[in-house]
Amino acid sequence: MSDERFDVVVIGSGPGGYVAAIRAAQNGLKTACVEVYKTLGGTCLNVGCIPSKALLHTSEIYEAAQTEFPAFGIKTEGLQLDLQAMMANKDKAVTELTGGVAFLFKKNKIEHIVGKGSINGPGSVSVALADGGSRTLEAKNIIIATGSDVTSLPGIEIDGKRIVSSTGALVLDKVPGHMVVIGGGAIGLEMGSVWLRLGSRVTVLEYLDAVLPGMDGEVRKSFGRMLKKQGMEIKTGARVIGVKTTKAGATVTYETVQNETAESIKCDIVLMAVGRKPYTDGLGLEEVGIEVDEAGRIVVGDGFETNVSGIYAIGDVIKGPMLAHKAEDEGIALADNLAGLTGYVNHDVIPSVVYTMPEVAAVGKTEEELKEAGTAYNVGKFPFTANSRAKTNRQTEGFVKIIADAKTDKVLGVHMVGSDAGNMIAEAVLAMEFGASAEDIALTCHAHPTHTEAVKEAAMAVFAKPIHM
Ligand code: FAD
Ligand code: NAD
Repeated sequence: MSDERFDVVVIGSGPGGYVAAIRAAQNGLKTACVEVYKTLGGTCLNVGCIPSKALLHTSEIYEAAQTEFPAFGIKTEGLQLDLQAMMANKDKAVTELTGGVAFLFKKNKIEHIVGKGSINGPGSVSVALADGGSRTLEAKNIIIATGSDVTSLPGIEIDGKRIVSSTGALVLDKVPGHMVVIGGGAIGLEMGSVWLRLGSRVTVLEYLDAVLPGMDGEVRKSFGRMLKKQGMEIKTGARVIGVKTTKAGATVTYETVQNETAESIKCDIVLMAVGRKPYTDGLGLEEVGIEVDEAGRIVVGDGFETNVSGIYAIGDVIKGPMLAHKAEDEGIALADNLAGLTGYVNHDVIPSVVYTMPEVAAVGKTEEELKEAGTAYNVGKFPFTANSRAKTNRQTEGFVKIIADAKTDKVLGVHMVGSDAGNMIAEAVLAMEFGASAEDIALTCHAHPTHTEAVKEAAMAVFAKPIHM
């Protein structure tokens, strides 16, 4: 085999692409990964999950030091924010983790080709190398894992100064006086929380009637109230129609959905967080005849193959939630399939977590979805105010809600708001993957004192009474 011939060429090194490349190499396939940026890890490691979680964690400690430490008997005189050091810590996390992927590539003998990839047709990828020149790679299998990119509203340009995307919101060099966030999804609420905790006034404008579209209605409403209590201003039913910037700031104009009147807000920084779009620029999809849907996502069949034989796609660039773990699991399943093994992703059981304080976590169906489908169900709920560990830690906001089939008791959905919900949802995911009933969870021994006991109690509440309520 010549140097330029591979079993698998992956385009894009985000959680979908780099994980697919590693598993393909582990399966004995000669693998290359083409990435336009010098660092590996894609959106998630460079400008997404990792840097945002670093800032969420440090801003949470900073706020807790001001508002919660005294109650625990810890004095914090002279507490100060060193934003530069906070940013440096975030950058260090990114460098360590992207470096970790580079290490894994070397270990698994995956060639990392730095440049922009485009598909010539089945079996052939051209790379415009970042250092100049080009290479043509022969590939038995091509995996498109080019992810997604920031998007804006019509007529509003993200200038990176007054109007920033999530990427800009991760590198602000001073705490804005007033930040207006357009969109009450995961990005808006996570990045809004960061800057609120660091001292900004934050106003979220959300088009729908509650934040976090797609989540369970009860969770959305009560979580919105919790954020308001923290000082986040949230205007729902507010459709942003324009932003004007000046040297001094920006003015955001929105229409109220209820009475269609136009209102405006002045601020220092606008964070545009209205969703992301699949990234396929310059890939050659049209030339090769690869089908995309109305949202620009690459259409794939059950085995992630596009309509062109030997060309596959995974992650944010195809349908489904834009989540790192979904992209990773698709990468593993596809790389196993390509090696003649059996790869599998259960798309019905993909957890979703919003890393605010409290965290929001969910898996499976919402009440609204079950009502629409006409499925009869029972609900069990348990509040953290009655959980001993949450009480001891003074983090009693939120609840666990389990929805189970009325006839079979099979768990259909689990929804949580709580300080440790992001970790706790794993139990619910595993339970659903194994087709557990609410009774199975209730009969499973949970360690005391832990937040997870709230899951057991919510499961009890589905068919009987919880103990501590
Ligand atoms: P990406 O990570 O987008 O990677 C695609 C890569 O392909 C990029 O590096 C890009 O440069 C490269 N590329 C594109 N075109 C080409 C080309 N032609 N040639 C070569 N390279 C190319 N998800 C979670 O699950 N949890 C979180 O906490 C979370 N937080 C987030 C926070 C923010 C601020 C953002 C923006 C996103 C967050 N996400 C989170 C979403 C998550 O980042 C994505 O779902 C995930 O990165 C998708 O992985 P991917 O491999 O499909 O694509
Ligand atoms: P989103 O789709 O989750 O939320 C966008 C919000 O903007 C929606 O609520 C929508 O109703 C609102 N909106 C749209 N147009 C509007 C307008 N004109 N005026 C007011 N509001 C408007 O998108 P996002 O928050 O930008 O996140 C993008 C992707 O990144 C998501 O798919 C998400 O899954 C992923 N992400 C995940 C995490 C996580 O897993 N913790 C964190 C960040 C991002």
